[in-house]
Amino acid sequence: MKTFSMSPAAGERYVPVSCPVCGESRTREGWNCGSYRFARCIGCGHLYQNPQPHFDGLRARYGDDYFSYELENDANFFDLMLKGLQDAGFFELERKLGDRRRFLDIGCATGMLLAYLKNRDWRVQGVEICEPAARYGVEKRKVPIAVGTLDEAAFQDAAFSFVHFSHVIEHVPDPRAFLLEVNRVLEPGGYVITVTPNRAGLQARVFRERWRSSIADHLNLFSRRSLVRLLSECGFSPIGWKTWGGIAKGMAPNFVKAPLDRLAKLAGFGDVVLVVSQKISRKPQDPPVGPPDGAP
Ligand SMILES: [Zn+2]
Repeated sequence: MKTFSMSPAAGERYVPVSCPVCGESRTREGWNCGSYRFARCIGCGHLYQNPQPHFDGLRARYGDDYFSYELENDANFFDLMLKGLQDAGFFELERKLGDRRRFLDIGCATGMLLAYLKNRDWRVQGVEICEPAARYGVEKRKVPIAVGTLDEAAFQDAAFSFVHFSHVIEHVPDPRAFLLEVNRVLEPGGYVITVTPNRAGLQARVFRERWRSSIADHLNLFSRRSLVRLLSECGFSPIGWKTWGGIAKGMAPNFVKAPLDRLAKLAGFGDVVLVVSQKISRKPQDPPVGPPDGAP
């Protein structure tokens, strides 16, 4: 999958933020990418953009160019997403839910996954910040998509039994507030699947600032560890995870890439990480505290 990033517009405002994972505000040098940088939290090792681009500027990045990119890659992204969902046991969870099939896809692009699930008897709903992509989904795929952010959609409490967001949480300015809102709109016992670039993966460790996911639109670079911690603190119980992608296409001949991809998946150092979790109805407990994320 190629990665697309809109360049920040001239004059975008930036705001200082503290670590969304542990709340610490002090950082040390992380990855310097030129016009933006990822600071490293001294509390937990999390990498995040600080100062952070102001949300008004971020929102403006997801316009017509972004839509063209999404439409161009629609089928390819959908295939990858479906493989990921299958790998993560989505269809077993679907069976468990029986007729409680209410699916929310946050960052649904043109709604391809929603259209697919609608045909499997799910009641579906999308949220998409890129207005032309959302309009395309509503008009061409006949699926409901709210334009804007999850907050702005203002869904009712416990409106869904399944929430999915793939390649979204790394774009969100406040991932903790985002996950708490996901928790609110999900029914107790409902499932969440989140997919994000894995900054503890092989490619991130090798390429660092030049990693294909070290882009200006990614505000937070998660590892499985930091993602699981945040999910646990926001009222979810992680029940499974996968990583995949050993090395990017074109970076090695296939006789190297294929075994490396298999190994990455087995050993958990793949380029993308997926975590499945379930909403717990009791008060979330603090997860056990361990050593900070190591410096890749
Ligand atoms: Zn931290």
